[in-house]
Amino acid sequence: MRFFRRSLIALGVAATLPTLLFTAVAIFYFLRTERTQVETATLGRSFNIVTLSDAALRGDLGALSVLTASSFFDTQDWRTFYPRVQRILKANPQWATLRLFDLEKGEEIFDLRRPFGAPRPATLPDAQVAGLLTDSTDLVIGDVLRDPEPLIYLYVPVRREEPVRHVLAAAIRPQVFQDILATQVAAGTVAALVDRNGNFLARSLDSEQFIGRPATHSMRDAIGSGKQGFYAGVTPEGLKNYTAFYTSAWSGWSAHVTIASALIDSSISWSFFVAAVAGLGAALLAALLVVLVVRDMTERRNAEEALRQSQKMEAVGKLTGGIAHDFNNLLTAIIGNLDMIRSRVEGNVRLQRLSDNALEAARRGAKITAQLLAFSRNQRMQLKPVDLIALFDGMSGLLRQSIGPAIEVQVEISPDARFVLSDANQLELAVLNLAVNARDAMTNGGKLHISSRPATRLDARDLPRRPYVELRVMDTGTGMSEEVLARAMEPFFTTKQVGQGTGLGLSQVYGIARESGGTLFIESEAGRGTTVRMVLPAAQAPQTPEPALAGASDSPTVPASSNGREVAILVVDDDRHVRRFVCESLGNLGYSVVETISGAAALEAMRERRFDLLVADYAMPGMNGIEVARAAQRQQPGIHVLIISGYAQSAAVEAALGTGRLLKKPFDVTELAIAVKEVLQPQ
Ligand code: ADP
Ligand code: MG
Repeated sequence: MRFFRRSLIALGVAATLPTLLFTAVAIFYFLRTERTQVETATLGRSFNIVTLSDAALRGDLGALSVLTASSFFDTQDWRTFYPRVQRILKANPQWATLRLFDLEKGEEIFDLRRPFGAPRPATLPDAQVAGLLTDSTDLVIGDVLRDPEPLIYLYVPVRREEPVRHVLAAAIRPQVFQDILATQVAAGTVAALVDRNGNFLARSLDSEQFIGRPATHSMRDAIGSGKQGFYAGVTPEGLKNYTAFYTSAWSGWSAHVTIASALIDSSISWSFFVAAVAGLGAALLAALLVVLVVRDMTERRNAEEALRQSQKMEAVGKLTGGIAHDFNNLLTAIIGNLDMIRSRVEGNVRLQRLSDNALEAARRGAKITAQLLAFSRNQRMQLKPVDLIALFDGMSGLLRQSIGPAIEVQVEISPDARFVLSDANQLELAVLNLAVNARDAMTNGGKLHISSRPATRLDARDLPRRPYVELRVMDTGTGMSEEVLARAMEPFFTTKQVGQGTGLGLSQVYGIARESGGTLFIESEAGRGTTVRMVLPAAQAPQTPEPALAGASDSPTVPASSNGREVAILVVDDDRHVRRFVCESLGNLGYSVVETISGAAALEAMRERRFDLLVADYAMPGMNGIEVARAAQRQQPGIHVLIISGYAQSAAVEAALGTGRLLKKPFDVTELAIAVKEVLQPQ
């Protein structure tokens, strides 16, 4: 399910990616088109400004031209001409003054700014203009001058004589052009009108300060480069701008309008920003996609590895369980028979010692079998709430003893992770196993830290949902290489020398954890110590302490049934060795014994006579022990039952057992005697 969701996310990302890229490209082109439109509009504005300025100039020139055609230039009666011209000035308020010059005499005949009087020596305000006027030109537009207010002179020659003698000049106030600018550009936009020599004629900002002054280098360069276009520059105030300009072919004046910088700048930077964000986003998404895919793959691989590992443990468990079960039967027979031999050679010290040795070896074998059965989880565990604090209190001496003085031990049981569901004896065994392993890994001393805490969901991810406790055993020892770690839990896997390790420790711990309904994790790295984490189901505090088991120390006496006759026992077991041992033992104890090899044979024997007790092996071909017992109780109500069983089936047998008693293999004569006696005389 998780893989599916991840794949969906990956698919979504894959689908989003091209869309996002497309959007980025589209925005980029949209902004570029927008910018072109803004540029074109601004250029149109500059064109309008020069066209309107030209029109204003032409109007002025028209008025002047009419004056030059006046008959006063024939009579040269300037005194009468003066007031006429004054009237025309009043009609053209944009004119600051009108002046008449005599080029031949180098005199100014009048200037309307002063009262009429004698001519005075003067040259034209624009020094270079005189030369131009003598040619065929019929007008010259002067540069903007400060005279003392900023003025632009229009010169019109009076063509009566050759060369031209009189020139009429009108001084225009730049306010006219200032007004034209104002009608064409929005407030805040920087726009300017510049004369052919590159001086400001009008400017939308701070006109007073700039008019008559030279324009910026970038403006002059632009005018020099062509009739119209765009340039990037810096205003005299130091603001970077991007400007459109248009030059009039007639007047030579040019209008400059900065492109609403907010618009153009933001559209440029916006497009870059959006492209950058889109690119970055796409890269991030791609990276995310890769990370997700890689994570998916690793997780899948880990899950497969975990599954393989648990299948392996399962298979090995089944195999060992089967073998251990058979061994158990053999050992039951061996121990039983040795027991009998021992009782018959009493007095012969040599034979007694030999049989003792044999018995001890057989018991060691039985212990190994028990460990194997624990790993294969065929062992019967009494799952009860276990108090970890009490457990460690009880075993602290044993723990200390097994690990020696060179290792520091610290036990920390968290109060909220104190009770677990397990078998106290088995859990103690597991902890001892882990402690011994830690000791073996810390030959030069170190620290053993045992702690408990509530397990996280992650620790128990493969287990049924419920609270768990993590019991952690951590050492500062040699740690394990990857190869050792991978196999550490396998039964019989050991890196220790023959006689030192059996390779059954961790497999037993694993079996105990699984049987408790938990699991086991080992984390280790060569040279970095080992942490073993037992995850166990959390439990409530146990209610009442378990009552002590009734002592089973009574020694067996010669049995007799209540009516005084010999007690009759029917034994049924398919395994010849076990059967022989049981029958002989019971015979020796004074019982009358009938021996059968199958359930059917046993029921047959019951038709012949009555029995007080049925001793039946559980696992038999055909009917199993429980089935035989049921049939027997139907045939002879009141018959007692004792079932013999290996560890492997004990839980099942216990569940199926009604009134009978269970005797676990392997057992010796004494245990058999006690069990029989208890069944026959229930308290
Ligand atoms: P044994 O102790 O008899 O060898 P175990 O099943 O207990 O068997 O452990 C198997 C192997 O795992 C050990 O031989 C050892 O190599 C390794 N091992 C177990 N516990 C530890 C530990 N605490 N530190 C280092 N290695 C360990
Ligand atoms: Mg060990």
